[in-house]
Amino acid sequence: MYNQGPREMFNVDLSCAKCGTHISQLPFQPSGDRPVFCQDCNRAHRDERNGGARPQKRMFDVDVNCAGCNTHITQLPFEPKAGTDIFCRECYLKNKE
Ligand SMILES: [Zn+2]
Ligand SMILES: [Zn+2]
Repeated sequence: MYNQGPREMFNVDLSCAKCGTHISQLPFQPSGDRPVFCQDCNRAHRDERNGGARPQKRMFDVDVNCAGCNTHITQLPFEPKAGTDIFCRECYLKNKE
């Protein structure tokens, strides 16, 4: 019969192969020939395999006018460089064509 109680933890004395965090308990017996990762790295690894935790697109608050149509732009998905022409989304897409 399976023990339905809390998962058995193995006491270990290892370091995460990725970030070096000390690991004192594992939900499985380490085999010794495989790198062991801490919970955080394991989760990150799993997220990566699932296509990654989708990074939220960061928007920059700006106060510029489109160099093409002069539309006022208040947000950009990138940090505008001084001296560069900034285009609104429509002009940007048009320029790309
Ligand atoms: Zn780690
Ligand atoms: Zn424009």
